[in-house]
Amino acid sequence: MKITNLEAIILEVEVKNPASDALHTYDAGRTVVTRVYTDEGHVGYATTHIGRGKPTADVLKVLLEKELAPALIGEDPLFTRKIRHKLWNIADYHGAEGLAHWGISAIDIALWDIVGKSMNQPTAKVLGACRDRIPAYSMAGWYFDSEKAYLEKVIAVVEEGFKAIKLKVGRYSLENDIERIKAARRELGSEFTIMVDANQGFDEREAIRRGRAYQEYGIRWLEEPLIPQHKQNHARLVQALDIPIAIGENYYSKHQFYDAVQAGAASVLQPDNRRAGGPTEWLEIGAITDAAGLHIASHGGGPVNVNMLCAIPNAIYLESGSLKHENKMLVTQLKMVDGEVLLPDTPGMGTEVREDFIAAHRVD
Ligand SMILES: [Mg+2]
Repeated sequence: MKITNLEAIILEVEVKNPASDALHTYDAGRTVVTRVYTDEGHVGYATTHIGRGKPTADVLKVLLEKELAPALIGEDPLFTRKIRHKLWNIADYHGAEGLAHWGISAIDIALWDIVGKSMNQPTAKVLGACRDRIPAYSMAGWYFDSEKAYLEKVIAVVEEGFKAIKLKVGRYSLENDIERIKAARRELGSEFTIMVDANQGFDEREAIRRGRAYQEYGIRWLEEPLIPQHKQNHARLVQALDIPIAIGENYYSKHQFYDAVQAGAASVLQPDNRRAGGPTEWLEIGAITDAAGLHIASHGGGPVNVNMLCAIPNAIYLESGSLKHENKMLVTQLKMVDGEVLLPDTPGMGTEVREDFIAAHRVD
């Protein structure tokens, strides 16, 4: 089998109610669809969502089509590690991390989609699956315009059947954080698992002050309390607090994860499949963290993350949005049973995008 072409398509969906965390608002609503074609009819898909900065999608499309794609043409798509090495060599002059790694990751996901499709199996099984479902938590506790809107989201999470939820903290005072946690706990009951995410909102001293308060409420983990570059500072939080520290959504490649593990920066590492790398890199991040006795949770949901978490033994949680309504972008639909999301039986990564969705939302 040979790769014949790569196409990057930009889709845009209007964001009617932008969600906010401690520092950011996500309003761009763009997704780059990467399609890799082969001479045997298999087409590999990856979707890269751009939450902030619309022009980033344009840059990524140019990077994929003009810079990275020529290295793919004529290659066997099953040689995923050979291709990753070629792409690193192309990108390392301007930095194989950053946006270039978004491109490399998208290609790797599309290649592993082809691998699964060519073997007629979900990619998790081709990688060596260790489970067929993964516990999920809902990322529902954003900052909204009113407390009423916040509580409605929290209640919807229980009604949908999740057993865990993540709440944003750190935008306002510690007192406000505690009010949000208490209000959620009242609706969720004592058994429900709650994580909190500060999205880099604190410095070390403030993270210790707030972390001590959160841990009194049985919070499962404190996520990204500091900027991700401050690995040593995170390591001091791990020592100072009882609450587990989670970090990783902004790390690129196994090298940054290795550094974080070496520093003792967290108990839970959270690769993002756009940044960390595709399945090839995820497996190595999984192995590094497993050897260190640490856990993996995904940053983000969807079928790529489900496939990866079902192939990584030390994975504990899938992050997810609501699965209640039909996913209008993807052919593959995810299903949750007893708070766990099932590995879809779709051959490949489950990333195939519906043609009607592309037609309705394509901007480039
Ligand atoms: Mg986060």
